Amino acid sequence: MVNKIKILLVLLLLCTSGCVTVPSGENIPAYSIGGVTYYPLVSLCDLRQVTIQYDTLLRTAYLSKDAKSVKLRIGDGLVLVNNNAMHLSAPIDIYQGAIVVPRQFKEQVFDMLFKHPAAVHRRTVAAKIKLNKIVIDAGHGGNDPGAIGKNGLREKDVNLDIAKRLNALLRAEGVQTVLTRSTDSFVPLSSRVSIANRSGADLFISIHSNANRSRSLSGFEVYYVAPSVSDSKRAALTARSVPLNLKEAVFANNSTDLKTIVWDMIYNNSRAESIELSRSLCKIMDANIDANILGVKNARFQVLRGIRTPGILIEVGFVSNLNEERLLKTAAYRQKLAEGILEGIREYSQNMALVEVISR
Ligand SMILES: [Zn+2]
Repeated sequence: MVNKIKILLVLLLLCTSGCVTVPSGENIPAYSIGGVTYYPLVSLCDLRQVTIQYDTLLRTAYLSKDAKSVKLRIGDGLVLVNNNAMHLSAPIDIYQGAIVVPRQFKEQVFDMLFKHPAAVHRRTVAAKIKLNKIVIDAGHGGNDPGAIGKNGLREKDVNLDIAKRLNALLRAEGVQTVLTRSTDSFVPLSSRVSIANRSGADLFISIHSNANRSRSLSGFEVYYVAPSVSDSKRAALTARSVPLNLKEAVFANNSTDLKTIVWDMIYNNSRAESIELSRSLCKIMDANIDANILGVKNARFQVLRGIRTPGILIEVGFVSNLNEERLLKTAAYRQKLAEGILEGIREYSQNMALVEVISR
């Protein structure tokens, strides 16, 4: 009897405060708050094994799984999905002491980003590359041979051949490409940068071959650019994020701390994309070629500096290593490398395309 009264009291409280529990159909509770269906964030994360961290000071939650991330703040309808802003029609809220997210967030962000394991397997292997244009930069050329192997293999020739192979593969998939050079000619770094920036491409990929005094060193590695811009240059760099419509929506509530977080994230956006692409590439290469995968590194290469799109520099192998020089000489190995780069781009573009779908 006492219990029944308690239940009645709870129900009465829920009704007067405009909240009722409604079935969600997925074994997680759902609440109706002000006519909007909400779900407890922790339950959603548990269900899909998504890591959740909460910053009590900023009232901000960070969700992450694999290379995907979502940042959200209580009381705010702005969420950052893989560092891209998206606006929800209802804000993130607190209910019964727990963070709750509106149905729109669950369906358009969470479920799409953190797919159920079964759903991931059903995805076709060769998904379409969802990028419009890619700049392919074959390092060195003309009177600049780059590194030279013990048996005479010249870096500039390896780079150009792989660039051309990658170009053909991308074109076959309907992706527009721009080559900074398509012949054995010298192109200054500054010209490579301006070609990239003028092209309006989604990606810049610079192809190089490595050399080291130690002939035992071998392997594939990818570099992304380190941030080296001053604060005054941030505005120019973030210009490409204008479609996010930050001015009106994000800063309307005039919360300075959020403003700082958002700008930081958008400033870091193209770097984050570069890192994500680098990781995709190393993962694919690890599965496809026999070489050591030396991993993702951060460096201030001149050619990557000034480029306003996500950009990476790939060192496909060491011409100074006798075994790799022999491999890099063969068309078969160069093709394998080009195909690996293509698959890395494909995986990266799938993640990026998902963000675009979500933020539309
Ligand atoms: Zn080089």
